[in-house]
Amino acid sequence: MEPSAALRPPGRPDGDGTFLWEGIINGPVRSRRLGASLGLNLVPPRSKLCSFNCPYCECGFNTPKAPGARWPSPDVVADALAKTLERLERLPDWVTFAGNGEPTMHPRFPVVVARVLEVRDRRAPGVRVAVMTNGLAAGREAVRAALNRVDERLVKLDPGPVERVNGVAYDRAAVVEQLRGLEAVTVQAMVVEGPGYSGASDTAIDAWLAALARLEPKAVQVYSIARPPADAEVRPVARARLLEIAARARRVVQGRVEVF
Ligand code: SF4
Repeated sequence: MEPSAALRPPGRPDGDGTFLWEGIINGPVRSRRLGASLGLNLVPPRSKLCSFNCPYCECGFNTPKAPGARWPSPDVVADALAKTLERLERLPDWVTFAGNGEPTMHPRFPVVVARVLEVRDRRAPGVRVAVMTNGLAAGREAVRAALNRVDERLVKLDPGPVERVNGVAYDRAAVVEQLRGLEAVTVQAMVVEGPGYSGASDTAIDAWLAALARLEPKAVQVYSIARPPADAEVRPVARARLLEIAARARRVVQGRVEVF
């Protein structure tokens, strides 16, 4: 899952202003919330692959898998991480699965997680591992178990009609139930407006608050777009409105609610 603007490394801009990460390892970059974070991109090169297709995505809309591009094997990911940790003068605070799409779509995601955790334990035991995910695959037992092995799960839960804000139709209530099978999660909520819809409307926020209350996340991060989105008609929501939304969220969740 693409990172929030707070965790966006430099990348290669595409013609429309969106951009793709160039390799498996990106960073470390400074994140306001995580500190120094080393990004892990599992998506095949020159491709944007996600089970969502959010019009606000900074990586652009989904693409076909690029000709000849392959998902990196668990060994390749582990080796790239080990070499990077070895050469860094200063270790990052986090290693974060993010990148050009949804990391749980990797066909061997649970094995990749196991290998990454082995490398972390061996070479950098103080570094924590996070996964950014849209949560669609969290109902699959092996994926859920892998997500529960890492130190932090950042899951997407955006206000607004899902087929518009996430670009695909899915049963949000069912996904929330899946997410409840995870250990403590942090919700990342992108609030945007586009043609004919607003994630900041009272209707959208009421429905979102109900989902939040059901999920009981340990923290919520509210933000809007800060970089060119896939769909140029998507607009950011004013910070004043984000602060109002966060204030309402604080009434329904125990965890920390922050606006980025
Ligand atoms: S979940 Fe949305 S924002 Fe994240 S990578 Fe997929 S399409 Fe992009």
